Amino acid sequence: MRTLTTDEFLDELRRRGALHLGRVSFRNNRSTIWSLTQKGKALNLHDAYRCSPPALLDAFAVIASEGGVTTPEGQAAGRRVHEWPELQRAVEEARCEHESSLRAAGGSTHCCATPAQRRYFRSVYWYFNRTRFGGILPDDVPVRLSSRMNSALGHMLPGGEEDERYVVEIALNVDLMLEGNGAERVDTLLHEMAHAADYLVNGKRDHGPSWRQWASRVGCTPETLYDRPVHRRPVRSAAVDRVPPLPTVLQARRD
Ligand SMILES: [Zn+2]
Repeated sequence: MRTLTTDEFLDELRRRGALHLGRVSFRNNRSTIWSLTQKGKALNLHDAYRCSPPALLDAFAVIASEGGVTTPEGQAAGRRVHEWPELQRAVEEARCEHESSLRAAGGSTHCCATPAQRRYFRSVYWYFNRTRFGGILPDDVPVRLSSRMNSALGHMLPGGEEDERYVVEIALNVDLMLEGNGAERVDTLLHEMAHAADYLVNGKRDHGPSWRQWASRVGCTPETLYDRPVHRRPVRSAAVDRVPPLPTVLQARRD
């Protein structure tokens, strides 16, 4: 497959009408697959896109010309570049490497949850496990909050192999605790719990048919956590100690 240099990639997009664009760079980044910076003049791309076929260059030209993904055409282009199988493979590979380094570090490397936030997740996890997963998940899966995720909203870290699979942890982006993110917080937790169930029961760790089945059974959006409308904290260093109110049914429960 042909590999493009940054200049060649830029030329290809400019030939397709993205005349505002002045710079392209490739990065080996786990969570950012592409971003437009410097008022739309700089396009930063995941390394995998060096091998973009013409159809993908067309899509990036649309994104760069629009300065983002605001129109239906731009959104369709955004989906096309996101769903490109070569990218998904590269992201998956990077994730596996990241996970083995997390495991080498002993699982949870960093958790910024306050004790009250930890209690909140224990209750909600317990509740969803009973009411949506038929209680099949272990009750002691740690739910961690991370202030280090960028665009990622969560992950499920699988452990063990074959007959001895277990879940090391579920981690969620601390931004999900902010006011106004209630729907996305619940959806992300269910999304990751569905990964846990799919991994423990089926040995799967992708968004394939068995995961989608879990997702529809437990009532979360059966899609990747890409491009969700989540409010972000104003600066990355800001601490988030907000504890959302528990669902009414849990408010009386003590454990
Ligand atoms: Zn997922």
